[in-house]
Amino acid sequence: MSDPMDVLAPEHRRLRIGDAWRDAAGAATFAVEDPATGRTIAEVADADVVDGLAALDAASQAMAEWAATPPRKRSELLTATYRALTERAEEVARLITLEMGKPLAEARGEVAYGAEFFRWFAEEAVRVEGRYNTAPNGGYRILTVPRPVGPCVFVTPWNFPLAMGARKLAPALAAGCTTITKPAAQTPLTMLFLARIMEEAGVPPGVVNVVTTTRAGEVVSALLADRRTRKLSFTGSTEVGRVLLRQAADNVLRTSMELGGNAALIVCADADLDVALDGAMVAKMRNLGESCIAANRIYVEEPVREEFTARFAKRMAALSVGHGLDDGVDVGALIDEAAVTKIDELVADAVDRGARVLVGGERPDGPGHFYPPTVLVDVPDDARMLKAEIFGPVAPIISFTSDDEVIAKANDSEHGLAGYVFTRDLQRALRFAERLETGMLGVNRGLISDPSAPFGGVKQSGIGKEGSHEGILEYLDVTYAAIDLP
Ligand code: NAP
Repeated sequence: MSDPMDVLAPEHRRLRIGDAWRDAAGAATFAVEDPATGRTIAEVADADVVDGLAALDAASQAMAEWAATPPRKRSELLTATYRALTERAEEVARLITLEMGKPLAEARGEVAYGAEFFRWFAEEAVRVEGRYNTAPNGGYRILTVPRPVGPCVFVTPWNFPLAMGARKLAPALAAGCTTITKPAAQTPLTMLFLARIMEEAGVPPGVVNVVTTTRAGEVVSALLADRRTRKLSFTGSTEVGRVLLRQAADNVLRTSMELGGNAALIVCADADLDVALDGAMVAKMRNLGESCIAANRIYVEEPVREEFTARFAKRMAALSVGHGLDDGVDVGALIDEAAVTKIDELVADAVDRGARVLVGGERPDGPGHFYPPTVLVDVPDDARMLKAEIFGPVAPIISFTSDDEVIAKANDSEHGLAGYVFTRDLQRALRFAERLETGMLGVNRGLISDPSAPFGGVKQSGIGKEGSHEGILEYLDVTYAAIDLP
């Protein structure tokens, strides 16, 4: 089998700025590691502020022409990107697994999901509409004109190195905006490969710029402080989101903030337990639990607690752990040592407070950042893992006896991204839907992400939506002309 790195030639492991692939101004580079082995897999350019501003120069220069490019042409370029990603899915998936650690099957799923944003927004690009209406007093007309907001800065996380960028790039380009993406330092390769694919697809220079750096704070601050930047879209932790919102305030930037979550998954006694088990496995273990919408807390109604727990524990124990590129692996490496240590501490804290470990619970020796699938029961309400994002393959199970009780517990969080409920009672499901404080709810399903749905959170999980028709509105300013016509 060939080396997954072969797909990204050394000249493309550099900054993508305007029409060039170039070294950082200071010629610095940084190493990207395979989290399953700790081995360095590539060196990429390490940008500083000068490079960031050069990318903004390129995005600003390209803005007028891109905004004036016919929507059909922009749509066709997005379709070409979708096709290229689909044709090269295996290469992209292997690159994702190598730099991020998820099993190949998960990476393939991410490529299919990420590519769909380009198809969806290729379809939206030609459906941006204004309005023309008569003012209520009949004396004039109002012409509403949506316009691209302008050059956008994107900051993306490591957990979905392709899809989190695709969710921003596709609607931005569809709306006529130019972009600068700063991918996570741990997973820059997939975004560089996407930029290369988009270059080959014919996206004009300056529309997609990519700046890889270990100095996120300095580079992003400089971009947000420059008046040519008109929009920030960030996906990452609530903690960093708050910092960036403060910085964005100085230039009164449009912002889309996709932040952290703490999803509760609720299994009611009347649920179809086969469906609930499948849903819980997906909601917990998709992406190794390193997902903002991962089930962080599993609440099971007392009459089915024992049966659900036993069957769920059996399925978790059967998962195999290993290098994501190896056949038959269900659970790959976590992103880094800090992630493993954090999970280990959260498990120890829960056990100290009285939780019992049914499956897993001990980090293995040896290289790579692995943690086994773990199930905990009798987890008390004050356990830290019920408040913090676990972001790994650990499932705390808590029992409940009434809907009021479980809704109060589920809502007792600063986050409000996703939730899940399993019940065969439609009215009960609808009551949960109305009372749970989340931007998204899975009803009898654990997979809720879809490019045609408006992904996003409430409370401190964020501002704005990605995907669906709402996704393109994030990149449009609605302006109007009042036209005298007595
Ligand atoms: P993170 O630490 O907040 O980092 C996200 C991005 O922000 C990275 O590119 C990072 O760069 C950059 N960054 C960090 N500090 C910065 C600063 N001071 N100024 C500018 N940029 C800065 O989050 P993460 O650990 O990568 O990702 C996990 C988090 O993302 C979780 O909380 C998860 O819930 C959230 N997430 C949310 C969604 C959603 O749609 N709501 C989706 C996926 C993930 P470096 O890589 O250089 O640190």
